[in-house]
Amino acid sequence: MEEIIIRVPEGRILVHDGTCPKGCSLMNPGKLMSGKPAITCENRMHGKTGLIHFNSFYGIYEYDSEFILKHGDVVDLACPHCGSPLRAPELCSVCRVNMFAIHLPNGGEVRACPMVGCHNHKLVLVDLDAQFATYYNDERRPKM
Ligand SMILES: [Zn+2]
Ligand SMILES: [Zn+2]
Repeated sequence: MEEIIIRVPEGRILVHDGTCPKGCSLMNPGKLMSGKPAITCENRMHGKTGLIHFNSFYGIYEYDSEFILKHGDVVDLACPHCGSPLRAPELCSVCRVNMFAIHLPNGGEVRACPMVGCHNHKLVLVDLDAQFATYYNDERRPKM
């Protein structure tokens, strides 16, 4: 299938159905960020495991980590439910480390760089009509 990659303004799309590769929901109604359920992942770093929560508005780099993160740290994310790694095959074009992927319905993905301080990210949609119609709030639908 052909991939179409688009750029959208930050904060205009709300991810509300992000999953791990096995299909577990990563959305966490118990942890709100910007008033919406955060995307919660497990983070393995320095031999420890902790939770990290991301703002679910696409492009908003707000996170809340159990670990203190510093610039240049690389997070290693996994599903908090089944432990599946969220690492994607694609390398960050800036840092050359594997990006991580939050899976969306119908084969889409949000991919982002795991290097703290790098804001490289992208939204990959494989079925535009279905995804925009079904998975994003109308009022946040980007003008194409
Ligand atoms: Zn899972
Ligand atoms: Zn990067």
